[in-house]
Amino acid sequence: MLFYFFRLTFRKFATSKTTQYHYEMSKYDIIVLGSGPGGYVAAIRASQLGLKTAVIEKESLGGVCLNWGCIPTKALLKSAQVFEYLKHAEDYGLTVKGADNDFGKVVERSRSVADGMSKGVQFLMKKNKIDVINGFGKLKPGKKVEVDGKEYSADHIVIATGARSRELPSLPQDGKKVIGYREAMTLKKQPKSMIVVGSGAIGVEFSNFYRSMGTEVTIVEFLPSLVPLEDEDVSKQFERIFKKSGIKVMTNASVESVDTSGKNVKATVKTQKGEEIIEAEIILSAVGITSNLENIGLEDVGIVQDMDKIMVNDWYQTNIPGYYAIGDIVHGPALAHVASAEGILCVEKIAGLHVEPIDYGNIPGCTYTSPEIASVGMLSYRLHRHQACGNLTIRRIWHQR
Ligand SMILES: Cc1cc2nc3c(=O)[nH]c(=O)nc-3n(C[C@H](O)[C@H](O)[C@H](O)COP(=O)(O)OP(=O)(O)OC[C@H]3O[C@@H](n4cnc5c(N)ncnc54)[C@H](O)[C@@H]3O)c2cc1C
Repeated sequence: MLFYFFRLTFRKFATSKTTQYHYEMSKYDIIVLGSGPGGYVAAIRASQLGLKTAVIEKESLGGVCLNWGCIPTKALLKSAQVFEYLKHAEDYGLTVKGADNDFGKVVERSRSVADGMSKGVQFLMKKNKIDVINGFGKLKPGKKVEVDGKEYSADHIVIATGARSRELPSLPQDGKKVIGYREAMTLKKQPKSMIVVGSGAIGVEFSNFYRSMGTEVTIVEFLPSLVPLEDEDVSKQFERIFKKSGIKVMTNASVESVDTSGKNVKATVKTQKGEEIIEAEIILSAVGITSNLENIGLEDVGIVQDMDKIMVNDWYQTNIPGYYAIGDIVHGPALAHVASAEGILCVEKIAGLHVEPIDYGNIPGCTYTSPEIASVGMLSYRLHRHQACGNLTIRRIWHQR
């Protein structure tokens, strides 16, 4: 800390001349590239530890989670839940007449909740004296980042550029009839029917939302069960509830091609019984995410990648000293709280604090459907495989109203 105190004091002294001031404004202890829950949390922790910090962001502060992920989907799901209550008010001894939904207003509310959260991050940046640099950042050798032709340098650069919706060659997204999660939460009109491809958390949450609002939903999953990252008994129970709610479930099924030429979109689905053509107004592709690694200068700097992730050690250091990576662009569960935990740990290590590596066998996760699924620890089939090692626990909670 004493070291940082001297550095900060020197910086104040060095800013007395305009040219030097200009230079110093572009020189930081830490620059964070990307302001999602990984990036903005890392930046706040860095600032709390006395490090001069900047965040570079090309869109809205808060990243996918606050603007296009966790927050707006949960706002949509809350509206769906309230609507379900209204539809079943009699079950609670209440009389509600003429309950209906205004899809446009539901979407509007979700956007306004997301905007509010992003503004909250803006406030936190200001409060913590973190410089926000708007624009697309590209890494340069020598611990520099270029934004719109201007270079910024730092002793440490944390890459937190996150991920986007993954596209399958058989399911190219046109943003209209074949959409990703961003479009799915901002549709102008509620579709009468929808095919959701993929039954991970994103796929089942949107299926749940649209079904509750009255859309005919078919969910297509390549693997034998829905929510395939959960335990088998959870998946089975979940599928039963999904079917009861009126969602058509196709497991062991894959979309081979789509035809968007007509009014509706047609999907050719390969099942165990042969090929089937199914039709809907819209297809939502929810087949996972792909990391934002392109054009950010990884090759120029020489940072090693593995598949579509940046390789890091327990402290999120890449192979090039002074460059770190956290969040959805590194291996591990793509979850907001994981990104934040990685950001905090990475920065605390940089600041010289004593830290322990994250235990990735003990990460909680939640799928916000009705009912919700919460789990922590290893899947039971993996646990059985690891039983010989001992000391492994698994918890699972069903919460049904
Ligand atoms: C629909 C949906 C629902 C989700 N729900 C949940 C949930 O309920 N719970 C949960 O834990 N997780 C959820 N997630 C996952 C969660 O959103 C991510 O794990 C989390 O956002 C990852 O954080 P991050 O900081 O790594 O990256 P991101 O949040 O993706 O942020 C990266 C930021 O970097 C910026 N950026 C990228 N490249 C550049 C560049 N070159 N220059 C400047 N800026 C750049 C991007 O604009 C973005 O703002 C959900 C995701 C989706 C898509």
